[in-house]
Amino acid sequence: MDLGSLALADLHIHMHEDDPPHRGCSVEEIVEVALERNVKLIGVVEHYPGGVLEYYGSIENYCIQVRKQIKVAKERFPEVEVLLGLEASILTVDGELNIRPEEARKVDFLLVGMHHIPAGGKCLPYEMKGRIGVGDVKGNPEYRSFLRKFNWKDLIEDWQEATLSLMRNPLVSIYAHPVQWPLVVMRKFLPKERWHLRKIEDLIPPHIAQEIFSNARKAGIAWEVNNGYLPVEYRVDNKYVGAGNKRGENSWSGMIDLFRIVGEYEVKVSLGTDAHVPMELERVGRLANAIELLRLAGVSKENIILKREQIRLCGT
Ligand SMILES: [Zn+2]
Ligand SMILES: [Zn+2]
Repeated sequence: MDLGSLALADLHIHMHEDDPPHRGCSVEEIVEVALERNVKLIGVVEHYPGGVLEYYGSIENYCIQVRKQIKVAKERFPEVEVLLGLEASILTVDGELNIRPEEARKVDFLLVGMHHIPAGGKCLPYEMKGRIGVGDVKGNPEYRSFLRKFNWKDLIEDWQEATLSLMRNPLVSIYAHPVQWPLVVMRKFLPKERWHLRKIEDLIPPHIAQEIFSNARKAGIAWEVNNGYLPVEYRVDNKYVGAGNKRGENSWSGMIDLFRIVGEYEVKVSLGTDAHVPMELERVGRLANAIELLRLAGVSKENIILKREQIRLCGT
């Protein structure tokens, strides 16, 4: 795939760092760097509720403050389009999000990721929704032993069910880092002999793919491809990927096959670096690996979101 001189899009940029001292950046600073990489469509997001409440106190204030910054950036760089977004989480297998619809509709677009083990399915009772985050399980023996008891097949079925529910949700614009959760759970919490995710059919067999991707296509929900997802041996750049991604923690050989299927179903694909600025300002708009992945997967450029009109805006 040759994108030629087409301008790119980076739809997953965090304006604050996750770790102390939680420094932030202005939209203008982000746009300036993005433009150097020929990125002319930008999506800035904060985690909801995390970053939004921490730095801005409320969604209303977040919208007011960031839209002000977007206006300033637009005056200096009129050729760049900046969208205001949020990164929320899916909590249950039946698609419950951690954000209310009226709140989500205040922003332009909604990224949703699976940051917890979805509750209400085969693995986790409903009351445990949002309680087992992929990150905080580390060093927590109670959760670790809980996870060890899980049956891998059940875990994957819960992922499939939650993913399908998400593809039916009218608020969702982009499914963020779609396979990160099963990979992280498998690699972090299961001994190597139980790593059952080898080929794409182990995650999405054809009949499930049919259901998930025909819904995604119908709804216009994009699947995100991150610059760190390409397996290390295929990379064209190993400098501008996140720390864990450098060693290939979130990459997977099945990723190319996954996006091949995404392409075959003509589901939209979005590009996102998940850069947390200012520490990762250098990573903004660095998408060479993501584009290589899509080339290997044979995704046609018409299915890649490069313009505002291609995004399913919140609640439409
Ligand atoms: Zn995320
Ligand atoms: Zn993110």
